[in-house]
Amino acid sequence: MKFSTRAIHVGYDHHQHNRAVMPPIYQSSVFVHDSVGETLPFSYARTGTPTRDALETCLASLEGGRFGMAFSSGMAAIDAVLRATIAPGDEVIAVADLYGGAWRLLTKVLEPAGVKVTFLDLSDPAALAAALTPRVKLLWLESPSNPLLKLVDVAALSAIARAAGVPVAIDNTFATPYLQTPLAQGADIVVHSATKYLGGHSDVLLGGVVVDNEDLARKIRFIQNSTGAVPGPQDCFLTLRGIKTLALRMERHCDNAEQLAAWLNTHPAIGKVFYPGLPDHPQHELAKRQMKRFGGIISIVLADDSRAGASRFAERLRLFALAESLGGVESLINHSSTMSHGSMSAADKASRGISEGVVRLSIGIEDLDDLREDLAQALER
Ligand SMILES: *Cc1c(COP(=O)(O)O)cnc(C)c1O
Repeated sequence: MKFSTRAIHVGYDHHQHNRAVMPPIYQSSVFVHDSVGETLPFSYARTGTPTRDALETCLASLEGGRFGMAFSSGMAAIDAVLRATIAPGDEVIAVADLYGGAWRLLTKVLEPAGVKVTFLDLSDPAALAAALTPRVKLLWLESPSNPLLKLVDVAALSAIARAAGVPVAIDNTFATPYLQTPLAQGADIVVHSATKYLGGHSDVLLGGVVVDNEDLARKIRFIQNSTGAVPGPQDCFLTLRGIKTLALRMERHCDNAEQLAAWLNTHPAIGKVFYPGLPDHPQHELAKRQMKRFGGIISIVLADDSRAGASRFAERLRLFALAESLGGVESLINHSSTMSHGSMSAADKASRGISEGVVRLSIGIEDLDDLREDLAQALER
């Protein structure tokens, strides 16, 4: 089956649920045994529920892995992967450009617990080969990255890591499985903040992990059940509902973003546009190879690269709401240095190019002309 069909059908059989077309929300924390010692498909909701199972199976199918796991947030999913793969004394190599929350977890939670964290610019895969030591137990990637839309070559980096026996995890939130399936490119673990495109309507917080390796699945499931950062059935239902239209929404996000990025790129009030679909993006060729299309996120630096400039722009916008998140049907603007990357130290932001004038636009699926008009009026001098 092709992607759009799997998104709608995989993981759910209406014959097992009173012929209900949509997966029922099993709002029950516990399931009944008929006899002592009986093995049930579901017994306690932390371990699993039918609604969560439908979502986990669908998610696994979309990423091309055999095992899917849902968590109460993207951060809980990232945390479970880190706990399952590394221990105090080990080292993680992480791509330098990544989500501020992942940076915070790595530097403020893991490092104090005795894990060595090394951030590397991995735009040249050779940098990884030079940094690998026997202590390295995980490679952490994000592509395209938050907020500056940098890519890494997933196939090349995975080949290098695999040769050294190091598992590769990648945050696929920005691309979604519709645009990129990293397991097929050699990665071992895919992580999602389903809060973003998978849910797609800014009404649910949820995280996902997909792997194809059974041993990794067992380890991550053990953490999922042991620490219990799992989503409730209502949240699983909302995410499943979102996934059904993922393919349609992504096409429209990409249509709108491609047009707006090209237009912004010639606008005099803009200093720089970061969008992998632009021919002048340094990794445009890699993006064409690695992704189906280029996604719905555009970051820009205003010509007036200051907090005041960003603030004035954001406040003048009428359709784009100033909010942290991304990936919903509605357009949003995020001030990276105080919002998504507010937890990152000033020095770390500076070294990554996240200046006060950087704003990230999550291009929604509204009418293109209305979005362009809104941006144009907010950029007027
Ligand atoms: C939002 C986000 C996360 C964190 O997910 P939550 O659902 O907010 O916990 C992780 N990675 C990326 C790329 C994100 O955008």
